[in-house]
Amino acid sequence: MAWKKRNAFQTPVPTPEQAAVYIKPSSPFTSGNLHMGHVRDYSIGDAYARFRRARGDAVLFGFGFDAFGLPAEMAAIERGVRPADWVERCGERMLGQMRRLGFAFDYERAFYSSDESQYRWSQWLFLTLLEAGLIYRDDATVDWCDNCQTTLAALQVEDGRCWRCHEKVRLIRRPTWFLGVAPYLEENDRNLAGLENWDELSLKTQRYILGRSDGVELDLETPGGGRLTVFSPHGDAVGEARFVLLSPRHPEVDQWAAEPAVRGQLDELRSGGWERSARDASAVPVIDTGASATVPGGGELPVFVSPIVDARYGPTAALGIPAVDEADEAIAARMPRATGDSLAEAPQARSATRYRAYDFSISRQRYWGTPIPVVHCEQCGVVPVPIEDLPVQLPRDVEPTGEGNPLAERPDFLDVACPRCDAPARRETDTLDCHFDALWLWVPAAVPPTDRAEQMFTHPDLRRWLPSERLVAGNDSGGFVFDQRVVTKALRDIGPFSFLEQGEPFAGCLFHEMVIADGRKMSKHLGNVVDPDELVATHGADTVRLAVLYAAGPAKALNWTDGALRFAARFLRGLWDYTHDRIAAAAEAPHDAAAAADTAFLRERLGKWSASGLERITADLEQLQMHKAVRNVTRLLERIQDYEKRIVKRRGQLDREDYEALLEALALLARVLAPFAPHAAEQLLIDLGEPDSADLPGTWPEPAGLYDSGDAGENPAPIAQN
Ligand SMILES: [Zn+2]
Ligand SMILES: [Zn+2]
Repeated sequence: MAWKKRNAFQTPVPTPEQAAVYIKPSSPFTSGNLHMGHVRDYSIGDAYARFRRARGDAVLFGFGFDAFGLPAEMAAIERGVRPADWVERCGERMLGQMRRLGFAFDYERAFYSSDESQYRWSQWLFLTLLEAGLIYRDDATVDWCDNCQTTLAALQVEDGRCWRCHEKVRLIRRPTWFLGVAPYLEENDRNLAGLENWDELSLKTQRYILGRSDGVELDLETPGGGRLTVFSPHGDAVGEARFVLLSPRHPEVDQWAAEPAVRGQLDELRSGGWERSARDASAVPVIDTGASATVPGGGELPVFVSPIVDARYGPTAALGIPAVDEADEAIAARMPRATGDSLAEAPQARSATRYRAYDFSISRQRYWGTPIPVVHCEQCGVVPVPIEDLPVQLPRDVEPTGEGNPLAERPDFLDVACPRCDAPARRETDTLDCHFDALWLWVPAAVPPTDRAEQMFTHPDLRRWLPSERLVAGNDSGGFVFDQRVVTKALRDIGPFSFLEQGEPFAGCLFHEMVIADGRKMSKHLGNVVDPDELVATHGADTVRLAVLYAAGPAKALNWTDGALRFAARFLRGLWDYTHDRIAAAAEAPHDAAAAADTAFLRERLGKWSASGLERITADLEQLQMHKAVRNVTRLLERIQDYEKRIVKRRGQLDREDYEALLEALALLARVLAPFAPHAAEQLLIDLGEPDSADLPGTWPEPAGLYDSGDAGENPAPIAQN
């Protein structure tokens, strides 16, 4: 293929006049198969990348595989192979699928998060955030299978039973690593107003994850003479408060649980998996501490502990106001002490904001992940591995069975000298959740592969390409993106990303909904999965791409039907036949000056139609509204055909000059089609005798030159092509 030979998609070094545009598609899991959601994602991103390239911008369009994690490990267990081999096989296959679909990635920049050269930087990031105090160790509740001697992820628990052996699982407490996001929640919130090139769908996910509540806070007195700050979204009803609800993660919760009975309940609540408990106020656990807080100006409020606070306002304390809040009403009905009088006077409150988003666990008791670079020493406790000793290598010759933790059974991995005191010590056997790898998975594509080992976070190219001009991703990526925004701010403050003043990884963002079939999610179980390979084999890549783009706007779920395919196939075939037919006819056409003069006004009109079509398609592409752009491409063909009909009606046939204008319009059409159906467009341009390929920089037509045709008798001016 000519593109590959020319290296058309290699990332260029931008000239001083060029905008450097890094377009970031979603990072696929190495599942082994592209699904239709990927096809949608990459068709949008690829159209945008080709458009920006044709406009003359320097484009980086690259990605890496999210290759660590449980799904890959489970797939490898099922097949009895090593995850390392499985992931490589899957990646190769998916890259082949991408090439067949004609996606113009810089494939030389593709990478796997499970490559040693990658995960050593995940380890670097871990140590960097650990030193900054953003990573910490705390107890968390996890599912545990006694039979398999392993912890289980939510994905591996089906109806309370182990996915592997179907025994009942139980919840245990164990030390887990957490990433702190709290210091950056407010800035993530504040920045939303300035993210102008983010579409509404992507902003909505960020707001949802933040879970912002505006209200008031006030200070109560604790029995010990201390202060307890409580929040309420109901600023005008605090005088109606009947109780206080404390999050089990509130920093001072323990001082409210001095009574052994209360202590016991709190421990049970924590180990009883309140992460999984119902958010329904009539069922959620609530503990009465037996103690009360005093309201300044008079009144006592009983203090309860319940995880419902976390689900609503984060790890804080909240006023229970049954008179105005349904959830509080439901809790009051369950708690005998929640029935006091109104407070003597409404206490003074100040305005306040709370966020529901909170720190999350980043470690898993799994083999297939980035080893956590710390060592456990009896003398020194938890000791970070020095950065110069990275990477802590993951043994790749492991064939996990799902039983136990393979890393704990490998002395060559486990036994190590303490970096601090040199005594025999043990490596951490937990690995990082692949969500952690994803925190910086948008970075490597911006660094040339040969420089990644040394300069992943310091390479000068980072200043050129970051922030990414546009992220194109599925609507389910909101959580990833939120945490990437947090970590970017942390790295700005720590130093490496100091040039990203806003701390934002993505200047623009387009989220799209998923692809469904028969109104339902595609799944093997429902038997409604559409296989992109089969579609490409039957209909060709261009038809599939065009159909996916045409079928729905990004904010709508794409309900896949053959209708869109038929439309795209008919359009491409029609355009192909029409163009070749007219090329042949033009060669035979007679020329008569008087006849040509008589239709000059129609040629001029065609020029205007072409110009306005081009303008609209350009605007659609700038907004990544590919469904509208494709519609306008098809309308342009209708206009061209209409022009021809009018001439035939007026004069019976086209003059050579009329044909020249017609072919010029068709060449324009081929150029604006190229971002969506690149293979067909490229061949049409060649057959029309166009000198420049559509993917050469600066070949996007300029509307201005199209209809300033000067004398009516002359040919319309040629399409401007820098
Ligand atoms: Zn089991
Ligand atoms: Zn030590």
